[in-house]
Amino acid sequence: MPQKILIVEDEANIAQLLHLYLEKEGYETQIAPDGGKAVELFRAFAPDLVLLDIMLPVMDGWSVLAKIRSESKTPVIMLTAKGETTDRVTGLEQGADDYIVKPFETKEVLARIRAVLRRTLGEEVSGEKRLSFDKLVINLDAYELMVDGKRIDTPPKELELLYHLASAPNRVFTRNQLLDEVWGFDYFGDSRTVDVHIKRLREKLEDVSEKWSLKTVWGVGYKFEVTGS
Ligand code: CA
Repeated sequence: MPQKILIVEDEANIAQLLHLYLEKEGYETQIAPDGGKAVELFRAFAPDLVLLDIMLPVMDGWSVLAKIRSESKTPVIMLTAKGETTDRVTGLEQGADDYIVKPFETKEVLARIRAVLRRTLGEEVSGEKRLSFDKLVINLDAYELMVDGKRIDTPPKELELLYHLASAPNRVFTRNQLLDEVWGFDYFGDSRTVDVHIKRLREKLEDVSEKWSLKTVWGVGYKFEVTGS
């Protein structure tokens, strides 16, 4: 069965372009031209992933995202306007899985869709909490960090933070997201806590490999960037 993608976009030419391209790539798609239709189709079509524009008639993308999140974990990729950093931060904090900046190339959209679907399926399949990359093994079952074959003493929160970032390579997390997801909602710290932990992790991971790195995304947050394989 082909995977289903709901395209929520009011600009008909963009929606049509995505529809044709994704169908050609083997996905089944439906288009919702406004926020109301988006919620309706989300329930009726039961997509595996949603591409969600923000500026929409009837109900904006934020309200649609909130509705989707109130009933499911279906991955959502936001389509944001160029330069709207706050849109990206808000989107990620409200539970979007990724964002794509307009204008985009269809190839990029396809790559993001595949990455998000792989990630969400992967999490369901493997229960093991162990991630490995070039010269790096993050083992959350044993709370062990192996860097270039050597065991590096690492406080639990640092290890959990690294694991969280590395479990979704190239995805950007905001500081607040990391606080909520790694430290927990009831944690009384501020975003500097995250910065301090990232700094300590960087000291341990500097210049180990060219294939991955802990990157700062200015104005947004952090990501574990993986280049090549
Ligand atoms: Ca729009």
